[in-house]
Amino acid sequence: MSDTLSPLDAAGVRAAVDDALAAAAAASDLDSLKAVRLAYAGDRSPLALANRAIGSLAPSDKGAAGRLVGPARAEVNAALAARQAELEAERDARVLVDEAVDVTLPVERALPGARHPLETLAEKMCDVFVAMGWEVAEGPEVETEWHNFDALNFDPDHPARQMQDTFFVAPADSALVLRTHTSPVQARAMLERSAALLTEGRGIYVVCPGKTFRTDELDATHTPVFHQIEGLAIDKGLTMANLKGTLDHFARAMFGPDAVTRLRPSYFPFTEPSAEMDLRCFVCGGADTACRTCSGTGWIEWGGCGMTHPNVIRAAGIDPDVYTGFAFGMGVERTLMFRHAVKDMRDMVEGDVRFSRQFGMEL
Ligand SMILES: [Zn+2]
Repeated sequence: MSDTLSPLDAAGVRAAVDDALAAAAAASDLDSLKAVRLAYAGDRSPLALANRAIGSLAPSDKGAAGRLVGPARAEVNAALAARQAELEAERDARVLVDEAVDVTLPVERALPGARHPLETLAEKMCDVFVAMGWEVAEGPEVETEWHNFDALNFDPDHPARQMQDTFFVAPADSALVLRTHTSPVQARAMLERSAALLTEGRGIYVVCPGKTFRTDELDATHTPVFHQIEGLAIDKGLTMANLKGTLDHFARAMFGPDAVTRLRPSYFPFTEPSAEMDLRCFVCGGADTACRTCSGTGWIEWGGCGMTHPNVIRAAGIDPDVYTGFAFGMGVERTLMFRHAVKDMRDMVEGDVRFSRQFGMEL
């Protein structure tokens, strides 16, 4: 291309037209045709510049130049318009194909999720106590060693304080652990409510659900993160009979009107006396010595309980000679396994929504 095309150069004008027609024919889409139009028919194209140059020709030459350049520009514009129409028709045809909808194809359905059964079960367990006027209390999952151990009467050399059981939080002198049980919430609940207990005589009745952590490997019956529900009552005149009555009521609410519990002497640092709480085997009812669920004993261990140790009550600034209390705790995973015959703990932690959906679509 040259901007020196003379409006009287017939061969040059013809060549400029041929260049433009070839470029228009070669344009494969509307964008490239736009560039072709700018180069061959725009204000600075050779033919436009030649047309402008007619004005400075001698008057005798203007007519011949005009008859040469005018039709040449018209021919280029007509070719561009024709190519434009072709390319638009091609685009429209392509859009019809590309955007065609096959109404017979299956649609992608987004399935709704489901709340995890551990969460809904923990709520159900708490509801039993809320219905009796208890409060739900929660505490931090990263806990001070004092709340997790000392306030609960653990000796400094208690095995639970060893590295093999407990996740300690770095650095080594942080005095923080991932709580190994929900019992530190008891200590916090007592400290928060002791003033109301001592001045207004308002008894402490709390239930504490939450995650707990131990250095267990994940297998069919263990998980390093699990859930507990813990209960604590501190008031005047509470006895082991109150504890047993509360647990029996709870067991019937969870496992039906025929549920039977028994207490078996045990040891925990934070209760005295302490007991394991067993449920009558819900598979054999204690009638099958070959029962695999209860190993033929007729009983299944559900949780631990006892009368709150005087040292624990004292650590909250409450006089254990005036007030007594009881506490109990059980695993939510274990309760779910009993209630719904879940055999493998790993199903509960793998996060497969198909597992959760079996328990209903509560959202
Ligand atoms: Zn059994």
